[in-house]
Amino acid sequence: MKAWEKNIRRVEPYVPGEQPKRKDIIKLNTNENPYPPSPKVKQALQKLEQEPGVLRKYPDPSAECLVSAIAKFYGRKPSEVFVGVGSDDVLAMCFLTFFNSEKPILFPDITYSFYDVWAELFRIPYQRQPLNESMEIVKEDYYKENGGVIFPNPNAPTGALLPLSEVEDIIAHNQDVIVIVDEAYIDFGGKSALELIDRYENVIIVQTFSKSRSMAGMRIGYAMANEALIRALNDVKYSFNSYTMNAAALAVGTAAVEDRAYFEETTARIIATRERAKVRMRELGFSFVDSKSNFLFATHRSCPAKELFGALKEAGIYVRYFDKPRIDNYLRITIGTDEEMEALYTFLEKWLRDRH
Ligand code: PMP
Repeated sequence: MKAWEKNIRRVEPYVPGEQPKRKDIIKLNTNENPYPPSPKVKQALQKLEQEPGVLRKYPDPSAECLVSAIAKFYGRKPSEVFVGVGSDDVLAMCFLTFFNSEKPILFPDITYSFYDVWAELFRIPYQRQPLNESMEIVKEDYYKENGGVIFPNPNAPTGALLPLSEVEDIIAHNQDVIVIVDEAYIDFGGKSALELIDRYENVIIVQTFSKSRSMAGMRIGYAMANEALIRALNDVKYSFNSYTMNAAALAVGTAAVEDRAYFEETTARIIATRERAKVRMRELGFSFVDSKSNFLFATHRSCPAKELFGALKEAGIYVRYFDKPRIDNYLRITIGTDEEMEALYTFLEKWLRDRH
């Protein structure tokens, strides 16, 4: 072993879902939006193409146009908004900024699998709190002493939504630490906890353009909280990388957030497809947590998830499978277009029938 090897910061990295090169895949494995971004995004891209000189300069480090557009959308002040390179970047910055205690941070045992990776990377002690038998967060588990709390709402990969009153209970019981509510999927049927930032100083809401705004490829995420917390986040950001948001992301992100009608129409469409999917998947022998997100976390009454995952993949239908304790008999299936979902049901119907 070389002497320097012991100085390497070793981590077991997060493994993102597969991005296949083949174009003919029905891709239901990474919770992307099946619809393209707002037509306003195309216009913004064309404008950028006509003015390539914009790329000569550094982008606005304060990302003012995007921050202001997000603030306007939610009726908040720009000083209450922080933006980053996807919510992964925003969440990583939040971990670095706010989870700086000797006490363990708390998050669910079944949750977004990046949380423990950031905790390991930043050497933050953590403790997982088990979901109950129905795969729901038990709010009382988060009342003990801790160094901070984070959970997604709806949770991932279960899709279960914690009612706003229970989110508030968790925040109210943790006023000595920061509580991060990761609302990556909130636009698909949940009520955001954003209003709580006026009543509690310790809450941060994190959202993303990757799901309900159809822009996973642009990498835009944001946090909303009171001015003091946003200032603290910006201080850490400027100590790490001033120019997180590139010029293209600023232009298209602003255009996307300004098109409220398109956002509302596409999210409503996904919600409708999801509700139909619940009926169809139940008929096919699946059961699942009642999802309020753009995916179903489903288990089949007779066919092991791993086998189904393999069969689907071979048929060119990609879903997500987590080979982890407690969830290794589940598939996380992103809600696609109606046509994509029909192809899924048709395949499953035939395959499950032929299997017996
Ligand atoms: N939070 C949760 C719960 C997620 O599932 C994801 C998607 N992988 C993210 C955050 C990160 O999304 P993004 O970085 O694309 O905004």
